[in-house]
Amino acid sequence: MDPILEVVDLQKKYGGQTALAGIGFSVSPGEIISVLGPSGCGKSTLLQLIAGLQQPDGGEIRLRGETVSSGSRFVPPEKRRINMVFQDYALWPHMTVYDNISYGLKRKKNSAADIKEKVSELLAMLHLESFAQRLPAQLSGGQQQRVAIARALATEPDLLLLDEPLSNLDMRLRIEMRTEMSYLFRRLGTTVFHVTHDPEEAFAMADRLVMMRNGAIDQIDRPHACYRLPATPSAASLLGAGNRLEGESMFEEGVPALQIGSTIVRGASPVVWNNRMKQAEALFRPDAASWETAIGAEADEVAAAAESSANSPFNRIAARVVHSSFEGNRWRVLAEGAPGRRLALFHHEPLASGTTGHLVVPVADTFLYPLPG
Ligand code: ADP
Repeated sequence: MDPILEVVDLQKKYGGQTALAGIGFSVSPGEIISVLGPSGCGKSTLLQLIAGLQQPDGGEIRLRGETVSSGSRFVPPEKRRINMVFQDYALWPHMTVYDNISYGLKRKKNSAADIKEKVSELLAMLHLESFAQRLPAQLSGGQQQRVAIARALATEPDLLLLDEPLSNLDMRLRIEMRTEMSYLFRRLGTTVFHVTHDPEEAFAMADRLVMMRNGAIDQIDRPHACYRLPATPSAASLLGAGNRLEGESMFEEGVPALQIGSTIVRGASPVVWNNRMKQAEALFRPDAASWETAIGAEADEVAAAAESSANSPFNRIAARVVHSSFEGNRWRVLAEGAPGRRLALFHHEPLASGTTGHLVVPVADTFLYPLPG
């Protein structure tokens, strides 16, 4: 199937500052793409260029094969079959919910009967029937958000743009709404381009993730694939791998590894490992690590020898507990690794400060990257 959206080598600068450094990707019909990246990486700029709210400095944007931005060619926003849901919803405050949703259909001169049928369908789909005659100010944040989505879907755009659509909702509602939206758009076959800084929101919504950093793309893949092996250290830390160790790059029985003192940490790397690399870093998620309290020097040595053999699927990293804090269904434990690094993990009960032992981390969940230099 031909793509709905194609972005080719798109560039944008503000003064001397590069916001987009030449990025490209395409979106298939019915696909939900989430752009995930830290604040300032260029997500909103990308969204505004696609919507036609700004002009690029270079590159091309095509919608259903038609060039809408390229060199001197620029199709204005109202001529692009795109609707956008803004962070603050931007509902018309003086219009009822019904009128907000029907506005676009009236402008397109749909018949009164068609408009009524379409709006009723959207009100039902978004659980808004009993609010049709209210003004936006008489609605909760979650209800306003649903009206904004209904309004954006009413004219059946080729592409729906969502700009941090859940950022103004409380956590419980955010979790509920991201599942609702994901279900709704898939049922309708809507093609969605969604930007967020929240990995969980991106996971819940996306067929494919576009991971951005500094105006460039680090990785484009299915959410699960990005989660399993992030392409860069910043993608890894954005996806929760907050534990970091540095060491000498090496191979351990053909597996990429790094050496920190007498500890060898093996892992998976998206980079082809080679002997020319000197320093490297290992990143892993607190969720990936479990704790093993030391049981005495001798027994511990035997266990360590068995576990850190090249065939073991686990890394063992010696550490001493610094602090445990309660998180409801588990405890978050802060430990100091032997190389003097703070490392976090989760445990089913608190661990006393000063307890010595090992973080046990699957090799497959340890991500390795070479350091420059
Ligand atoms: P994000 O949406 O990921 O937070 P933005 O696209 O808003 O990122 O911004 C990308 C970069 O461009 C940032 O460094 C930001 O400071 C800069 N920027 C964004 N808009 C403007 C503007 N109107 N004028 C100058 N710099 C801007």
